[in-house]
Amino acid sequence: MAIRLGVIGAHGRMGTEVGKTARQDSEVELVAELGRGDLLDRLQEKVAEVAVDFTTPEAVKGNVLWLIERGIHAVVGTSGLTEADLEELEAAAQGGRANVFIAPNFAVGAVLMMRFAAEAAPYFQAAEIVERHRAAKLDKPSGTSLRTSALMGSARTAPWLKPVEIHSLRLPGSVAHQEVLLGAPGETLTIRHDSIDRTCFMPGVMLAVKKVQELRGVTVGLEHLLEL
Ligand code: NAP
Repeated sequence: MAIRLGVIGAHGRMGTEVGKTARQDSEVELVAELGRGDLLDRLQEKVAEVAVDFTTPEAVKGNVLWLIERGIHAVVGTSGLTEADLEELEAAAQGGRANVFIAPNFAVGAVLMMRFAAEAAPYFQAAEIVERHRAAKLDKPSGTSLRTSALMGSARTAPWLKPVEIHSLRLPGSVAHQEVLLGAPGETLTIRHDSIDRTCFMPGVMLAVKKVQELRGVTVGLEHLLEL
């Protein structure tokens, strides 16, 4: 049976790409595509089992709480959720009616970049992240850079290691780019990832759509769905 899928933010850049991809996937049936101003009730009317959210930092938490209450599993790509928001979502999802999967970055290369950066993190006294996105991106720093910094931070426990700093650039012509630069006396290590087209996020999004029903509560990070 195909998974009945709804998309919230369906007319945006990412939502449009999700719609295009879902239409070509026989394991998924696209039953609702919602834009700003459309009522979320349509997801219930169309009996959506999973909804993907690519909206805005202001809208995402309310949307996910609504989905959890109605027992619709959520796959979230929208950035801007804070630690306090995540705690609220976890509490709401505890009843077990619906699961939530959140990925700061759905690109496999970006997940590997974060993993490599965390592995390298304990060996270099200084580490800085430079992230670059399109000029109109609403959140700053990016969700990916915050997640990278958190993963690196947990690996940098020795007192001689400096905290990881993030530098955010907003430039027309960018999609999503990040460099992690690590420095020690006499050497630097640079780990870099570039998303040059939004298609790079789609395998991760569709994997999450197919797996979210098997998860429990709130799961953050595509690495939990990949056999790395
Ligand atoms: P976008 O092009 O601005 O699309 C957002 C869409 O959501 C717009 O069409 C907007 O409508 C709509 N929207 C806003 N509030 C809504 C609501 N309450 N209900 C339904 N639709 C609503 O942005 P984007 O480039 O697609 O990015 C969307 C989000 O995904 C951003 O937070 C971005 O940082 C994030 N992102 C994540 C990943 C990842 O891998 N996790 C990758 C890329 C982007 P209007 O145009 O009318 O405002």
